[in-house]
Amino acid sequence: MAVSSNIDPYEILGVPKDASIDEIKSAYRKLAMKYHPDRNPDDPNAEEKFKRLSEAYEILSNPKKRDIYDRGGVSNFNDFFQQGYDVSDAMSIFEQIFGGLTTANGMWGGGGFGQNMRTQKQSYAQQGESLRIAVDISLEEIYKGVEKTVTVSHFETCSVCGGKGYPHGEKLRKCPQCGGTGRVREVGRSFFGTVQRISTCPTCGGSGSIPTKICTKCKGTGRIRASEKIKVKIPAGIDNGQILRVAGKGNVGIHGGRPGDLLIIIREIAHKKFVRKGNDIYTSYPIKITTAALGGKRKFKNVDGTEIEIEIPAGTQFGDILRLKGKGLPSPGTSRHGNVIIQFIVLVPDKLTRKQKELLKKFAEDEKQPKKSAIENVIRKYGIHN
Ligand SMILES: [Zn+2]
Ligand SMILES: [Zn+2]
Repeated sequence: MAVSSNIDPYEILGVPKDASIDEIKSAYRKLAMKYHPDRNPDDPNAEEKFKRLSEAYEILSNPKKRDIYDRGGVSNFNDFFQQGYDVSDAMSIFEQIFGGLTTANGMWGGGGFGQNMRTQKQSYAQQGESLRIAVDISLEEIYKGVEKTVTVSHFETCSVCGGKGYPHGEKLRKCPQCGGTGRVREVGRSFFGTVQRISTCPTCGGSGSIPTKICTKCKGTGRIRASEKIKVKIPAGIDNGQILRVAGKGNVGIHGGRPGDLLIIIREIAHKKFVRKGNDIYTSYPIKITTAALGGKRKFKNVDGTEIEIEIPAGTQFGDILRLKGKGLPSPGTSRHGNVIIQFIVLVPDKLTRKQKELLKKFAEDEKQPKKSAIENVIRKYGIHN
């Protein structure tokens, strides 16, 4: 879930930027209690919220990580967690901090926190990873909208074992490493003395049981790599760099976890004739000096290939602009279009016939100096270069 991770940890915990570690701890505690998956079995989003809270807490409670975040050194939470971060990590943090406390206080009522956790072993499902893929799109395609077929290489559910990781009919046995709890305690030494960390059992992946045989096709992972062709509708007017999300087309989850998403990054191919700025399209249009002086009607071919008749006013100067309203790119989700902005380039002939020369000389006899205002206008536009 790389995309939704770009959220301010201060905002998630609802604490000010200068919050003390005690304030952070207390805010985390309050919210983590509220969104703990054990307490919200019917809310599918609770697990995600709980995970976000723990991520935010882990950043702000670690002076080094907090400092990096405050200095803007990291734009994505995932940069803090190299191994990826799942709900079992969030559980570990929670237990590390409040584990003893909550059990002793019987905060969850009835069976108490610890017991509840043990019955929740199945929730160690891991969400599949989201994948990114870039798609190159021409301006013509952006103008009209397009359907593209992308080939994505991702993990799909193993067809042999159905994602279980072991052959059909295979019996499960209690995991010898964790004794069926799905969690292991690690005791380590630190500056402060011995620290205990509870983490997901690496042997059974937190499920508490292991099969006697594993699926040979997926080597027990329940997933196999496969490529799939996916049709993606790209709406007209989409921006360069915009991301389209195709839900569930990333990697499938592990142990029944939800699949990740496929994120499609739009890359606009630079056009030879047109430059895009937002929904507006800029282009230049060369005209002859006679057209510039006398004016006239001409044809202009737009991005989508349609021909538009344009009127060039008499006395058009180099750099003058003609705006074709509503002929630019559509803005997605509305009926509005941007404009096409045509800038005229007046071309002076570099080769003249004898007859043309004579005509121009004749013209020059009658030619007046350009008006001061016209000169100033050009200077204002292009400046004076030496
Ligand atoms: Zn185990
Ligand atoms: Zn398999």
